Amino acid sequence: MRTSGRHFLQIPGPTNVPDRILRAMDRPTIDHRGPAFGAMCGKLLNDLKAVFRCDGPVYIYPASGTGAWEAAMVNTASPGDHVLMYETGHFASMWSKLASNLGLVPEVIEGDWRSGADAAAIGARLAADKTHSIKAVCIVHNETSTGAVSPISDIRDQIDAAGHPALLMVDTISSLGSIDYRQDNWGVDVTVAGSQKGLMLPPGLSFNAVSSKALEASKSAKLPKSYWSWSEMNGPNDRGFFPYTPATNLLFGLAEAVSMLSEEGLDNVFARHSRHAAATRRAVRTWSLDVLCTNPRHYSSSLTAVVMPEGHDADAFRRVILENFDMSLGNGLSRLAGRVFRIGHLGDFNDLMLAGTLSGIELGLEIASVPYEKGGVQAALDDLAEARKAGRSHAPLAHAV
Ligand SMILES: *Cc1c(COP(=O)(O)O)cnc(C)c1O
Repeated sequence: MRTSGRHFLQIPGPTNVPDRILRAMDRPTIDHRGPAFGAMCGKLLNDLKAVFRCDGPVYIYPASGTGAWEAAMVNTASPGDHVLMYETGHFASMWSKLASNLGLVPEVIEGDWRSGADAAAIGARLAADKTHSIKAVCIVHNETSTGAVSPISDIRDQIDAAGHPALLMVDTISSLGSIDYRQDNWGVDVTVAGSQKGLMLPPGLSFNAVSSKALEASKSAKLPKSYWSWSEMNGPNDRGFFPYTPATNLLFGLAEAVSMLSEEGLDNVFARHSRHAAATRRAVRTWSLDVLCTNPRHYSSSLTAVVMPEGHDADAFRRVILENFDMSLGNGLSRLAGRVFRIGHLGDFNDLMLAGTLSGIELGLEIASVPYEKGGVQAALDDLAEARKAGRSHAPLAHAV
């Protein structure tokens, strides 16, 4: 049966692709070794640095985010290297599985899947590593399975305080372009990112933003690599080209996304995400449901994971909302399956889209007979109205600066 109106894609990635980006990609594919492409990509590779807030190179792969995880590891590590990881949730555990598949030895600090990484615990582990056997610290900035953000600059401080030479690698797949992030300022060596979340593109591109320390480490890294090799990219990238066929039309879209972020201003983009996240939490509390993240300093601006009341299955609830209101919400991943649903409020999103999203959830709670208190949508609207009246754009949360 035909469904009227637009689908609400409120999973925490892929996100709604704005018409401007769809239009930018709706063009004939051009010669990826011709002058028009070189000029476009030369500029793009440079403009991208403002999004990562970095001076070093940003490598682009035609791959999902997982490809960029692999690229980060194979370019910097040698077989048997230890890497320190913090298990904030599903995505952190997938990254550590990838590392061990590649022949690395992840040392995993367990988390409770309800908060970001504990910087002090990372510092203690590094201080105890007198022989410097740990070669990298790998952290998921925004853990998309739980809606918890890790304090990257605190972790950098801990690495420095321990006098430890490990590289710092950060997965920003669901935070870049949504939550304050500063590669150079925070001393990050490799930033991993993907196209389909805060960057508002379809899936299919991923990124490594690389520090000079990581480039240096790549010269002696012994894991086998070819397709992912940074050094193969360097020469061609200098002229706006790639060593193989790039995803030409996605790159047109990326150039448009970078323009859109810069027109709005990154700080305004972060403030908008933080305002929508605050209004969402207010709705969730008014419904008498729990936000999964228990540490207010770690609340995510990209998504909110909501705990279902005991005896109610989150996937059955999501199905009711999809069937009745044509809205997709995120599912609970691995150990959270059936127990939480996730509201994506990242990317190309505004107050009225949030109002529609929360209305769909409140309608769903009613018709699925989930125990809840009415008024969540109204509480969120009050929050949004207060923010507008105060001319307030919520400052980014303290942990983010
Ligand atoms: C989405 C996501 C990934 C996985 O990216 P793919 O594009 O599916 O490979 C990894 N880490 C985080 C934090 C994510 O949000």
